Amino acid sequence: MTQLYPLMPLRDVVVFPGMVVPLVVGRKRSVQALEDAMNKQTEILLVSQKHSATDDPAPDELYEYGTLASVMQLLRLPDGTIKTLVEGGKQARIISYVPHDDFMQVEVEERDDGDQDSIEFAAYARSMKQAFFRYAKGNRKISKDVMQSLDVLEDSRKIFNVIITQLSLRSAEKQMLLEELPASRFESLLAILEREIELMEVEHSINAKVKAKMSKNQRDYFLNEKIREFQSQINQSEDGLDELDELEKTLKAKKMPQAAYDKAAKELAKLRNMPAMSAETTVVRNYIDTVVSLPWGKKSPTKIDIGKAEDILNSDHYGLDKAKERILEYLAVQAQVKKVKGPILCLVGPPGVGKTSICRSIARAVGKKFVRLSLGGVRDEAEIRGHRRTYIGAMPGKIIKSIQKAGVSNPVFCLDEVDKMSTDFRGDPSAALLEVLDPEQNSSFNDHYLDLDYDLSDIFFITTANSLHGIPAPLQDRLEIIPLSGYTEEDKLEIARDYLIPKQLKENGFKIDEIKLTAGAVLEVIRRYTKEAGVRNLERLIASLCRKVARDRQKKGEKRKEYRIGLQSVGKLLGTPKYRYGQAEEKDEIGLTTGLAWTQVGGELLQIEAVLMQGAGKLTITGKLGDVMQESARAALSYIRSRAEAIGLDADFYQKLDIHIHVPEGAIPKDGPSAGITIATTLASALLKVPVKHHLAMTGEITLRGRVLPIGGLTEKLLAAKRGGITHVFIPRANEKDLRDVPMRIRKALVILPVEHMDTVLEEALVCPAGKQVFVTGESKTTC
Ligand code: ADP
Repeated sequence: MTQLYPLMPLRDVVVFPGMVVPLVVGRKRSVQALEDAMNKQTEILLVSQKHSATDDPAPDELYEYGTLASVMQLLRLPDGTIKTLVEGGKQARIISYVPHDDFMQVEVEERDDGDQDSIEFAAYARSMKQAFFRYAKGNRKISKDVMQSLDVLEDSRKIFNVIITQLSLRSAEKQMLLEELPASRFESLLAILEREIELMEVEHSINAKVKAKMSKNQRDYFLNEKIREFQSQINQSEDGLDELDELEKTLKAKKMPQAAYDKAAKELAKLRNMPAMSAETTVVRNYIDTVVSLPWGKKSPTKIDIGKAEDILNSDHYGLDKAKERILEYLAVQAQVKKVKGPILCLVGPPGVGKTSICRSIARAVGKKFVRLSLGGVRDEAEIRGHRRTYIGAMPGKIIKSIQKAGVSNPVFCLDEVDKMSTDFRGDPSAALLEVLDPEQNSSFNDHYLDLDYDLSDIFFITTANSLHGIPAPLQDRLEIIPLSGYTEEDKLEIARDYLIPKQLKENGFKIDEIKLTAGAVLEVIRRYTKEAGVRNLERLIASLCRKVARDRQKKGEKRKEYRIGLQSVGKLLGTPKYRYGQAEEKDEIGLTTGLAWTQVGGELLQIEAVLMQGAGKLTITGKLGDVMQESARAALSYIRSRAEAIGLDADFYQKLDIHIHVPEGAIPKDGPSAGITIATTLASALLKVPVKHHLAMTGEITLRGRVLPIGGLTEKLLAAKRGGITHVFIPRANEKDLRDVPMRIRKALVILPVEHMDTVLEEALVCPAGKQVFVTGESKTTC
């Protein structure tokens, strides 16, 4: 009986004898055919479909010839399909289909493969290889690996199989090859290769011709472009003449001093005789443009109505009474005399307390233009006064540029951050600034670039600074200092309610009553999301809240009448709080005292810690501290040593100990002598092993003998104490007079204890166990 084989139809694949092919089999009947072959350990006949789209091909939709194949591997996938690896064996022709329920079953006639080892086949093998190498030379898609693996093959069948997979032949063409006997199949492949090689050669020559043609087109294109460019340049210089006439007209129309006019006219004459496109021409042209663009003698009308000015100042800013008062006085004088020759106002205070914005308000109050120039980081005189024109890329200085921007000669001119200028080898910018601000000299201010006098005497200059320290003394002499201090929580609440919230609502496109920020919410933002003396971050966060609501509204497409932002919503909108509110310690600690520091951004609580270790008298001080603070730590230690006996310490206590003082790092480096008494208290507490009262803070410089000397920044420090939840504060007796300047609200919120001597501080600050006292020798009267 002849053997029956299960049949598996293939789509778009032709398997040749000797070929190993992976197949993914999904059709049910095919799967069953494969399984049958597996079970019975027989081969399976692989036959290609005439049309790949047919799902369940009938016999007449299959080719007559196929390949018997053995199943090498079979992998069942979870979705029921099978992945299999088959190896083509003999070529076979279907004689008849024998009915079977589960799959197609056929009777076949095998065809002879011929003698693989014959000379004839070896010759075919060599010819096929050579032909393919020629083909591959002109075809970059064939990889080196393929060539190498082909090179070592000798079996004609294998060589055929490698080549056939590299050629992109249609299935029908491959089927035709399969149906031939081996020798003629190899010949056909050779014919196909020859055909492909010829095709490729023709293709190459066509490409080359196209390329040649293209580059000629491109060259023509470039030449045309160049010609166009030249032509446009020729036209430009013709136009240029007209432009210069225009420029001359504008120059004549300007009301500038004769000297300036003469100079500009001379430059213009020079320009006319210059080649249109030279670099020098551009320099001269820029110069004339700058001179022409300045607002020579152009002024906005000045009308000072003190009553109205006061209203405007009040409507723009909450509080700041002293500053407003001084500004109004200044304006009143200005209204009477034509030019004020008095000092220049300088608003000094931490960032965000409204210095710049009050300058802007002044401009509004007197109906003048406003310009602002930040001097922060200016270190070169030329930045103020300009570079001489002999420099490449020379420009006027910042003063002249600002005037150019203002468009008038009498703006309100805010010089921000005068304390942040620095001096180096490039010259001293503050000297140039002095000249700008000096009413005796500034009517003829000479900018190096302009090389002409410009009258600055109608400008209303106001300066601002964070602290007086950075302002050079000669400049300070010219300035009238108006101090602005930081705000209390209550101030901030009012500023937010009456100024910042309405302003931000408007800027973010809300009506005034559309978002309601509760006082609780604002307080939460003040306490836990900002840490500042001014209100700059508060304003930024209010703006951020508005934007978040706006985005929410856009996203949801809803239009509620009123949005309420309460305490709870703040966390949701702004994320986790940044700061802990109330920095005072929660219980009395040994070797830990709260000091008060003053930095350029306002007051801050300053925790000073000390620990003692067995050692040999070494004093280590860490934290971001400046030299002065290090010295004051040494002075504090000397004071303690000098009082050792009185407070019951061995006279040589320090020889057996190492002392480590640490000031936990804040964002801002700390310096200054005002932590002296705080350090001394910390040391005494650590040495006596007695805690320091935790609700207490202190500030004061210390002398070697324990006298307490005055300090600066009292208001800011007391503000910080109140913000931080402190109740009692030691201040130097000599600072008592400064309390007058401290707002009542702060004074009322704190118990302020003026002290003259460190002994008093120790007695009051340390918490001795019952029945004990700090000064064991009885020198001091008070017990603690
Ligand atoms: P500075 O120049 O002191 O660093 P800004 O002038 O930039 O501060 O002020 C920051 C923001 O705070 C501005 O929008 C300002 O209007 C606002 N602001 C500051 N102080 C007040 C105040 N007293 N009343 C109303 N708004 C204020």
